[in-house]
Amino acid sequence: MALKAKLVIPGLETLQADPLPVMEHFYTLQGEGSWAGAAAYFIRLAGCDVGCHWCDVKDSWTVAPEQYRSCLDLTAEVVASGTPRVVITGGEPTIYDLEPLTRELQAAGIKVHIETAGVHPLRGHFDWVCFSPKKFKEPLPAFYQQAHELKVVIFRPEDLAWAESHADKCADFTHLYLQPEWSRKDSISPLLVQYVKDHPRWKLSLQTHKYLDIP
Ligand code: SF4
Repeated sequence: MALKAKLVIPGLETLQADPLPVMEHFYTLQGEGSWAGAAAYFIRLAGCDVGCHWCDVKDSWTVAPEQYRSCLDLTAEVVASGTPRVVITGGEPTIYDLEPLTRELQAAGIKVHIETAGVHPLRGHFDWVCFSPKKFKEPLPAFYQQAHELKVVIFRPEDLAWAESHADKCADFTHLYLQPEWSRKDSISPLLVQYVKDHPRWKLSLQTHKYLDIP
């Protein structure tokens, strides 16, 4: 049974666009999906209303007053790192209006990526949308045409049929990835290797940052 996220959202319009609550931010390599191996500055926003039982960042579900950072300050730290791109993740980043932050980042010459379960409308300016739907909250239909990348986390073999149902709705340009849920990787990865060989529209995504023990 899915755990309930603790964040209470009284109305999306009441959430601030600037400052934003940040759980953590750091310069590293993107570990997963289309941009695996590429340098990227991660901004992990606090707050999630999806509630996946296997979530590996449950600390991101709640928001604390001391976590709020201004978009200008965040942008300055991203630029100072020397990164060419930023990944805005969570939590569930579409809870927030990201227009001010993404506008500042792009004005500074930074490419902006987002990783989202697609449960709220995208608000902001994005160069790459990684759409990772979850069974625990229905995604919005608009994401099937907005996603540059569909990344489906596979927890059990039955999830493959569910992944196909999402892939069938995506645009022709969307890159399709299957990713083993980390705690099940030893049993699921061999299954996904065979599945991708049999269904080559998919690619395998591995959480390489966890294998390398980097953030
Ligand atoms: Fe965790 Fe992401 Fe699921 Fe939210 S959407 S519960 S952050 S895995």
